[in-house]
Amino acid sequence: MKKTMKCVECGGLAEKVDDIEFSVDVGDKEVLITNLRGYRCTQCGAEYHSAETVEKVQEILKGIKRAPKVQFSRKLTKSGKRWVIGILPNEIMEALGLEGGERTRLHLSGRKIVAEFD
Ligand SMILES: [Zn+2]
Repeated sequence: MKKTMKCVECGGLAEKVDDIEFSVDVGDKEVLITNLRGYRCTQCGAEYHSAETVEKVQEILKGIKRAPKVQFSRKLTKSGKRWVIGILPNEIMEALGLEGGERTRLHLSGRKIVAEFD
């Protein structure tokens, strides 16, 4: 990335920055993505996103849209010596494109158990 570029708006000098904020509406929520790289005009304040930034924003948005919004409550039960959480509802299976038999990676996030599928 070059250090400066010419501002398209006013012809002034736009300098490389890494604190650009980008806000988008996803459904009824506003998502603010911060610390993006790009250029900001020193004269008029116009902001330019780098190609890398646009890609990053799209990746983040894809992730948000893909996540199923449905939530279900399940009881933790014991089966032999193992603790078991009941089968995922079909809506979640469909949203994730699962058919059964797939392996998942489990990890903890605070008090949440995150199950990740490829
Ligand atoms: Zn400008």
